Amino acid sequence: MEPDCIFCRIVAGEIPATKVYEDDLCLAFRDLHPVAPTHVLLIPKGHVSSQAHALETHEALLGHLVFIAAKVAGEEGLTNGFRTVINTGDEGGQTVHHLHLHVLGGRQMHWPPG
Ligand code: 5GP
Repeated sequence: MEPDCIFCRIVAGEIPATKVYEDDLCLAFRDLHPVAPTHVLLIPKGHVSSQAHALETHEALLGHLVFIAAKVAGEEGLTNGFRTVINTGDEGGQTVHHLHLHVLGGRQMHWPPG
């Protein structure tokens, strides 16, 4: 755990969050500022700063996160589709430096993203 990391503090229960899924490896909770009717953040419980900081030892964890993102989308009733987003680094739009997948749905998505 990184004591200054907001998402590590959510995992530790120090900051409240509306959890929608949890297992040994990851936690999903609703985004504080949703940009879609469903906006869930899925994070590894262990601190990984970003996708670019993932190590070879994290490979199975990354696969798990992608698999669980679809499971969460299903549990959220997103039967018409959903979008999974990982923002990485400054130009990628990452603001919280703990790896997270945005699971977005409940409205039509557009391309290209902003
Ligand atoms: P990023 O821009 O890094 O890809 O996404 C960070 C996301 O975390 C944003 O969508 C933001 O609304 C969300 N967020 C930031 N702080 C908190 C918090 O304390 N609780 C929750 N639930 N979401 C947060």
